[in-house]
Amino acid sequence: MTPAQLEFVFDAKTTATPPPRRDAEFEAFCAKKLAALECGVFPVKVVWSGRMKTTAGSASWRAGVITLNVAIRVRGPAEVETTLLHELAHLLAHRRAGGKRIPPHGSAWRDACKDLGIAGEKRCHNLPFERRRLERKFFYTCPNCATTLARVRPLRRKYACSACCKNFNRGRYDERFRFQPVKKT
Ligand SMILES: [Zn+2]
Ligand SMILES: [Zn+2]
Repeated sequence: MTPAQLEFVFDAKTTATPPPRRDAEFEAFCAKKLAALECGVFPVKVVWSGRMKTTAGSASWRAGVITLNVAIRVRGPAEVETTLLHELAHLLAHRRAGGKRIPPHGSAWRDACKDLGIAGEKRCHNLPFERRRLERKFFYTCPNCATTLARVRPLRRKYACSACCKNFNRGRYDERFRFQPVKKT
């Protein structure tokens, strides 16, 4: 246990009521999600852990256990639910594959995510705040010279390619060289 480290990310509201070690409410939630699918309900145990450091959640196919990091609670219920469904998708994908070895974040997992209502879910298991801080997921390109820009957060203001503005507009902002978002393929 590393309680000192976890206290660092908690705020008063989330520390007020520590989660149960085993979360019956979430287990019922998982059962309800599975009941809506053709594969039917299978037993899923959901537990909270205070030992995980940078991992938001994990799933053990053999044991049918989903483990969630208590630190994700600080991100709010929506993020917690997404993490839970991400892990449930792992169990669902394995179930559908009949226990065969499958790529952890391959097409079976992605299909399971879609069926559980989290289509387009990221493969990352790291804590959301870590991911936000580190991963550049917004890409832009200059329409003139094709210079690319990778950003952690989306551009909010107009932002043009400085090289092109310098070369063709005396260093002043020019709409022709404004960075355009690139769709991820
Ligand atoms: Zn995963
Ligand atoms: Zn340019």
